Amino acid sequence: MTPVEVFLLIIGLLISFGFLSFALVSLHEKHHRASALSFLLLLVSGIIFAAFLLSSKLIQNIGLGIILAVSLAGFILFFWPTAKEIAPSPPPEQRVDERTIMFARARLEPGTPNFEAYYRDHPDHKSLDEAFRQNPGLLEPGTLFFNQKLAASPQGDFFLTESLRDAVDGPISETKVVEPPDKMTDFIKNLAIYHGARDVGICRLHSYHIYSHIGRGSGEFGEEITLDHQFAVAFTVEMSHEMVNTGPRMPAVMESARQYAEAGKIAIALAAAIRAMGYPARAHIDGNYRVIAPLVAKDAGLGEIGRMGLLMTPSLGPRVRLAVITTDLPLKENQAAWHPEMIDFCSICKKCAQVCPSQAIPFGDRQEYADGTLRWKINPERCYTYWTRVGTDCGRCMAVCPYAHADNFMHNIIRVGVAHSHNFRRAALWMDDLFYEKKPMPHTPPDWIQSV
Ligand code: SF4
Ligand code: SF4
Repeated sequence: MTPVEVFLLIIGLLISFGFLSFALVSLHEKHHRASALSFLLLLVSGIIFAAFLLSSKLIQNIGLGIILAVSLAGFILFFWPTAKEIAPSPPPEQRVDERTIMFARARLEPGTPNFEAYYRDHPDHKSLDEAFRQNPGLLEPGTLFFNQKLAASPQGDFFLTESLRDAVDGPISETKVVEPPDKMTDFIKNLAIYHGARDVGICRLHSYHIYSHIGRGSGEFGEEITLDHQFAVAFTVEMSHEMVNTGPRMPAVMESARQYAEAGKIAIALAAAIRAMGYPARAHIDGNYRVIAPLVAKDAGLGEIGRMGLLMTPSLGPRVRLAVITTDLPLKENQAAWHPEMIDFCSICKKCAQVCPSQAIPFGDRQEYADGTLRWKINPERCYTYWTRVGTDCGRCMAVCPYAHADNFMHNIIRVGVAHSHNFRRAALWMDDLFYEKKPMPHTPPDWIQSV
């Protein structure tokens, strides 16, 4: 064989190996269209390279030239760092009253003093909230995807999380462990990972992280919140790709509830461990937060808040659940992270907005809000009303987000390009639409659930 033929053979085998791996990985991920396309590309590329190898030397040289030119152009276009000027959002100028958030409003019971007082103070919310009150509700019979056997799983996890809500704080040891902040930071981060956290970050606790008044959880509804801890430890837990992709069907809420419980358990154990070292610490878990967890997680360097209003991490996108521990344990805060590439990707992507069944996610650019922030804002009433109609927490937006793909070598190669180049982001989105469709359909649940 001539050197050109050897080169063509090696390139052909590498490309075929790439397509074959992608096809098999996609099959495993139940992305059948991506898998079929990759098998087709494997076949086509195999035929092209075989044709080159059987051709004259002149055709082989031309083929080699084309491959080198395309590779160089690909490198320049996709891997050469290109940036688009993206302005970061300033932090909020005001604190949020937890009573105004959708989950607190959903807990208000008609006829109670809190219900009457809330809608007297917020008459604009009354008609909006009547829409979801007319529906059966989350995990309730009569909703579109209700199945008593499957609903029992999230009901069990929500029961567990509810049982943990009074354990968020507790007694502090009278003896202190005293160590330099960087050493202690290392220990706390590793302890969180040892307990099952995926990513961990630390920031100073700012007043805009803290809700102004209690809307749910322990304490009196409407009570003013004071929290004078200095630091916040935020962490994520990963949600199963397979379960999330079934949203808005029942397995999606099974997974949400399971990971809320997981995050809650880890946060409570960590807060208790910090108190056992002699420092105040409070866990902030589902249903009993004093802080706005996504804002804390963003400032702790875990990711950005994207178009769908959730925290997105660079490696798992929105396919995470969060919890926070606030404390006075002296810690070393993370370098403030800023991921303009994620905001840039959200600006061009809009996939979540396209699939949202309640049209709660905006299509336009980020807007400036009265609190001074620059962001996308979803319509929480539309989103929650849909949940109470279908009986699950939907998660369609989370399932289709290109950042939420499985955390494996194939997708991580794309993530590297997305992080570096604006041009690559456009190409990656085009490929995502091609391989996974512009409006992907929900996946079938795992076999053990399908047989229910
Ligand atoms: S689906 Fe696209 S637009 Fe929506 S959050 Fe994910 S990356 Fe951003
Ligand atoms: S959870 Fe569903 S309804 Fe709510 S914003 Fe996401 S896609 Fe829309």
